[in-house]
Amino acid sequence: MVKIIDGKEIAKKIKNEIKEKVFILNSQGKRVPKIVVVKANNDGASESYTKSIVKVAGNLGYEAERFDLSANASVTEILNLISKLNKDDSIDGIIVQRPLPKNIMASKINESLLPEKDIDGVHPLNMGYLMMKHKGLVPSTPKAVDYVFDYEKIDLTGKKVAIVGRSDIVGKPVGMLMLNRNATVIYCHSKTKDLTSVLKNVDVVIAATGVAHLIDGNMISEGSIVIDVGINFLNGKMVGDVEFESASEVADRITPVPGGIGSITTAMLMKNLMEAYENHEG
Ligand code: NAD
Repeated sequence: MVKIIDGKEIAKKIKNEIKEKVFILNSQGKRVPKIVVVKANNDGASESYTKSIVKVAGNLGYEAERFDLSANASVTEILNLISKLNKDDSIDGIIVQRPLPKNIMASKINESLLPEKDIDGVHPLNMGYLMMKHKGLVPSTPKAVDYVFDYEKIDLTGKKVAIVGRSDIVGKPVGMLMLNRNATVIYCHSKTKDLTSVLKNVDVVIAATGVAHLIDGNMISEGSIVIDVGINFLNGKMVGDVEFESASEVADRITPVPGGIGSITTAMLMKNLMEAYENHEG
């Protein structure tokens, strides 16, 4: 019988730990962590993510503020705002929403963030720290995936893990984290030939492609662990990269969509904010 990994339950645990820390800070009369969201688009998904970040942060007792720029904002406008936020000592974490205005390179914005306030882990320094197992800020979705193995008490030493997807923000960092857990990591991507033959031979499949139902039960091995990062919409319904029904019949454990990694991701962003605050306050 497959075990469904409950992302909501995991997120609740992380949030409760944060609430306790904020409670202690308040009782000591100390400043609480502050997050700032910068948004320069008219994108609906980005708007709901921004609202959710501000709401979740408020519920945890954090301070939160959003800065809305026009969807046509220039690179100078955004960089000037970030520079101001970098220097503001009352701010511990900055997150810049995607999509950015047309013709603005994400790398330019990522590099402008103060690495200590980069709670989304997108600055090249934080990416580099991850490679070197150094203490840096890790992007929240990969960190959510990583946390599942702690929560579920799964030892990956010597296990074969296939990451399907190699984006800078999800696939690549997830692979690094799995490598740090002593797994044998295989990266798959859009150019991978015969995905099934790879997935049939691994213990863990982590899907992060953005292709709805790319992977089904026929493609994975009996007793494998399936982590589905994908968020896609099929006939108006949110689905993952994995076809849940058929994969559940074969897998030992699986994360659902919704209610899996997506639920843990915002909690992880909030955990990163507390880490940034603690480093900031010394
Ligand atoms: P991306 O488009 O940047 O990267 C997709 C990756 O998938 C690429 O590396 C590509 O090579 C690979 N890919 C595409 N088609 C493939 C195929 N047919 N076979 C094998 N590999 C294929 O996407 P991303 O930003 O990494 O996001 C991936 C998914 O994760 C999306 O569904 C996104 O919505 C979701 N996501 C979820 C969260 C969360 O909180 N749960 C956070 C970020 C992204």
